[in-house]
Amino acid sequence: MSKRASTDHSCDVIIVGAGIAGLAAARHLTAAKKNVIVIESNSTPGGRVRSDIIDGVTIDRGFQLLNPAYPEAVKMLDFKALNLRSFTPGVRVRTSQGTRTLIDPFRSPRTVLATAKSVPGTRLEQVRFAAYMTELAKGYGRELQYRDDGTAYDALSGFREIRDDVLGPFLSGVLFDDSMTTSRRLVDVFLRCFVRGTPAVPAKGMGEIARQLSQGIALSLNESAVRVTPTSVTTNARTHTARAVLVATDPTTAAYLIPGLPKPQMRSGTTWWHRAPVPVTSLNNGLPILTVDADRTGPLVNSVVMNAASPEYASTDQALIASTALGTGPHSSADIAKHLSYLYSANTSRWEIVAVQPMIETVPAFEVGTPFRKPTRLDNGIFIAGDHRDTPSLQGALVSGRRAAAAIRHALA
Ligand SMILES: Cc1cc2nc3c(=O)[nH]c(=O)nc-3n(C[C@H](O)[C@H](O)[C@H](O)COP(=O)(O)OP(=O)(O)OC[C@H]3O[C@@H](n4cnc5c(N)ncnc54)[C@H](O)[C@@H]3O)c2cc1C
Repeated sequence: MSKRASTDHSCDVIIVGAGIAGLAAARHLTAAKKNVIVIESNSTPGGRVRSDIIDGVTIDRGFQLLNPAYPEAVKMLDFKALNLRSFTPGVRVRTSQGTRTLIDPFRSPRTVLATAKSVPGTRLEQVRFAAYMTELAKGYGRELQYRDDGTAYDALSGFREIRDDVLGPFLSGVLFDDSMTTSRRLVDVFLRCFVRGTPAVPAKGMGEIARQLSQGIALSLNESAVRVTPTSVTTNARTHTARAVLVATDPTTAAYLIPGLPKPQMRSGTTWWHRAPVPVTSLNNGLPILTVDADRTGPLVNSVVMNAASPEYASTDQALIASTALGTGPHSSADIAKHLSYLYSANTSRWEIVAVQPMIETVPAFEVGTPFRKPTRLDNGIFIAGDHRDTPSLQGALVSGRRAAAAIRHALA
C-alpha cells in the first residue's frame, strides 16, 4: 500500500464496529499515530458488552463477567479505574439432595474442608480433577492451544461425576452450549483463567469496559456500513475512504459485508433480570457466587445475585438476579420463576422481571480443531477482527483487535 495514497483519503484506517475488538484495534492504531475513524451502527460503543440503567438498576446486555486473568485485559484495561467487584471464585451446585458449594481452596483456604466434602465423585476422580486443574494453572497458556484436540466431554472423562454435575453445567453457561462438543483446547484455556483469576464486573456495569476503551477514539455512532472495499466504506450516510479498512463487526455482519467469508455457527441464549424484594444477604447467604443446576431440572443454566458482588448495580435492600438459559425460548416467566425457586430454595412469587434479553447470537461455536488465531487480512486486502477470529471471549476480541492493528501498521509502513 503506498504512503502517497493517504493524502487522498479521509483517514488512515476506517474500522467498522465499535465492539471490544474494534475499540482495541483503534487504541493500538491511535497509539501508533494513525488517523482512525470507528464507524458504529449503534448509538453507543461496546457491541455485545454494554450496560443500561432500567428502573434504577444496572443491567448488562446478557450476564457476563470479566476475568482479570485474561492476559490481554491486563495489558489493555485499567482495572483500578473500572473498580472491579469480584464474585466468589467457585460455584454453588443445586442438586436434588441440596446444595454443594465448591470454592477454590487456593484463594479461600478457610473453605478447604467444606469444599473437599462437596466435590462429587470417587476419591480417585477427585485426585485426578485436582491434578488436572493444577496442571492447567501452571505453565504457559499458549501450550494449551496446541495440545492434541478433542471434545471437552472426552477430555474431562477422568472425573465423570465432576464433569457431569459441576463442570458441564458451569461450562454450558460460558459456552452457551451444553453438548460438551466444544474444543478441549478452548475449555482448558477457559478453565485455566478461572483458576488463575477471580471473575468480576466493573462496579457500574460491563459497559464501563467499552467506555474506557473508547476514550480518545474518534467514533461515528449511528452509522451503518453497507459496503466495504480495501480502501472505502459506504454507509447509510456517506462513503469514507482510507488507506486500510478493518471490519470488526459481529461474524454475521462480517459475512454480509465480505461475500465468501465463512460464518461460524453462533450460540444463542436468554438472560432474565429479576428484582426480588428481599435483602441481598437473604439469597445464598449474601455470597456473590454462580449457582448451577446439576440435574438440569429447568431451563436456566446459571443464576447469580449481581448486587451481592457489586452494590452499585442495585441497592442492598433488594436482590438483583441475572439468570441465563440456552437458546431463545420460548420459556414462560412462570417456568423461570419455578426454576429460580428451586435454585435458591426461595419463594419467587414476588420477584419482578426487570428485563428479558433473548440473544440470537451470543458467541461463536468453537468446535474441535478450530484454530485459535485466524488471519487478520483477507485475500481481497480487507482487514478483519472480532472474537470469531480468535477465541469467543473478551480476551479473544482484545487479542484479535491487537493482531489486526499490527497487520495494518505493517501494511501501511
Ligand atoms: C450474553 C453474553 C455473555 C458473554 N459472557 C462473556 C463472559 O462472561 N466473558 C467473556 O470473556 N466473554 C463473554 N462473552 C463474549 C464477549 O462479549 C464477546 O466475545 C465480545 O464482546 C465480542 O466482541 P467483538 O468486538 O468481537 O464483537 P461485537 O461485540 O459483536 O462488536 C461488533 C460491533 O460492530 C457493530 N456493527 C455491526 N454491524 C455494523 C455495521 N454494518 N456498521 C457499523 N457497525 C456495525 C455492532 O453494533 C458492534 O458494536 C459473552 C457474550 C454474550 C453475548
